[in-house]
Parts: sequence; structure tokens; C-alpha cells
Amino acid sequence: DNPIQRKPDWIRVKAPGGNPAYHETRALMREHKLTTVCEEAACPNIGECWSKRHATMMIMGEICTRACAFCNVTTGRPHPLDHDEPQRVAEAVATLGLKHVVLTSVDRDDLPDGGAQHFARVIEAIRETSPGTTIEILTPDFLRKDGALEVVVQARPDVFNHNIETVPRLYPGIRPGARYYQSIRLLDEAKRLDPSLFTKSGLMLGLGEEKAEVGQVMDDFRIADVDFITLGQYLQPSVKHAPVRHFVTPNEFADYAAWARVKGFLQISASPLTRSSYHADRDFAELRET
Ligand code: SF4
Ligand code: SF4
Repeated sequence: DNPIQRKPDWIRVKAPGGNPAYHETRALMREHKLTTVCEEAACPNIGECWSKRHATMMIMGEICTRACAFCNVTTGRPHPLDHDEPQRVAEAVATLGLKHVVLTSVDRDDLPDGGAQHFARVIEAIRETSPGTTIEILTPDFLRKDGALEVVVQARPDVFNHNIETVPRLYPGIRPGARYYQSIRLLDEAKRLDPSLFTKSGLMLGLGEEKAEVGQVMDDFRIADVDFITLGQYLQPSVKHAPVRHFVTPNEFADYAAWARVKGFLQISASPLTRSSYHADRDFAELRET
């Protein structure tokens, strides 16, 4: 077991509760029987995000076929797909009145298409009920699922996000079921299939990566034409998960952000509490205004 280290002073989050919008968001998710990554990943920003009705739904169940060493989601054999889910997600998006929605999922290596068609159905259902809402999807890597990426891209999300999570050297221990270059290729391919898509990826820092390795990943992103980058601090969910090797200081995050700017990313979010979906609505709205 890896004991959990005390968080430094710069990582202080407000406990959820007290805010009526927070409770409304929570009730809505229960009512529509929806799973959120906010809860499943034990995200530290839940108090802030849900108070602004910004929730990231996790589709295709809460059981994942992978077992990443940083992730709080349960590993096992998932349940069959719920064919009513697209409609329920669309209703929740409409009720929350979201201008921008982020959708993610567990990995479904058990399905022949990795769940690509289900992603497409959810996108279609949202387009039908909320045509003005921009849609960001955060997908699995679709490893060995030929044709899956095409299905997802043809559904025309506004932002295609796939997280690289960590530097390639740490993949065997941290992301054992994944392949670094498969993930880079996926981002590259998504952009080629539809150049009007914005592509996005990110890393969790503090898992033992070297600065130069992060720089190399940024270069790999730019070669794959990735537009947006997110960099946040990894926090250890339990003693069974990978330990935090380093708490990256706010100054170090500022250096990474400056570095990313020089490398030409369109949008950069780098801070201890940055997560892929953190402020994604606000950031995307700002980008569209420029
Ligand atoms: Fe949910 Fe993302 Fe906000 Fe975390 S940062 S609470 S995952 S919307
Ligand atoms: Fe968690 Fe995603 Fe890894 Fe599954 S694939 S264990 S949901 S990070």
C-alpha cells in the first residue's frame, strides 16, 4: 500500500454543499440515473463545478475494463449498454441548460466497437434537444477497434479530447492497458478525419515524470496538431493507487503554461486543480469569442 501524503497548502478545495445549485445538480443526476466522472473520480472540484451546474457525465456504465494505477473507477466486467442512456443524458443537458457539455466514458474493451456507436448516439440525442450546445467528448483510446474513431468523428463533436495522462516511460506502471503512440495517433487521426474539430489532451503531473519528458509530450501533441492542453496535479485516490511523487508548485505550473504557449497551443490550462473538464465550458466560450 502507498500511504497518502498530506496535500500542500496550495491545494485547498471547498467542501461541497451549502449551495442550492450543487444539490439540484446532484438530484438531477440521480433522477436521470446518470453517472458522473466528478463523483467516480472523486474530483476535488465537485463543489465548485456542480454549484455552477457543470457536471461531466460518464456514459456506458461505471465499471471499466482497464485498471489504470491513478484512477478511482472500478475495474471489472461492465454491464450491457443501456440504450435509453442517450435520451437521459440529452434530457439532463437540456435541464441543466448547458452551453457546453463534456461527456466521458469508461473503457469498453468488451464491445466490438469500444462503444463508439453509443458515443455517436449520445451526441445525436443532445444535438436534437439542445442544438445550441457545444459538445466535447473525452474518449477511450479505441485500441484494436478498427473504424471506431471514424464513427465518433462523423457524429461531429465540437471538441475531441483524449487524455495521454502521463509520459511514455511511465506507461507500463500507470496506464498498463494503453499504448502511448496509439493515443497520439488517435489524436492525429481525429484531426485528419475532420480538420474543423478542436482536439485536446492532457497529463496529470506528479507521477514521477521529468520536465523534459513533459516537453517531449507537448511536442508530440503539436506534431499531431492537438489544439488544447490541460496539465493538472495527480492526487492519489486511495492507498491502492499510485503514489504522488511530487506536488508541482504553482510556479512550476506557470512555467509549463509558458512553455506550452511558446509551442503554439490554442488553449492552455495548467494549475494544480486543472482537470480535463475543469472550466471547459468557460474556456471554450472564450475561444469562440476570439
Ligand atoms: Fe466534474 Fe470536471 Fe468539474 Fe471535476 S473538474 S467536478 S470532473 S466537471
Ligand atoms: Fe479509469 Fe479511464 Fe483507465 Fe478506465 S481507462 S481505469 S476509466 S482512466
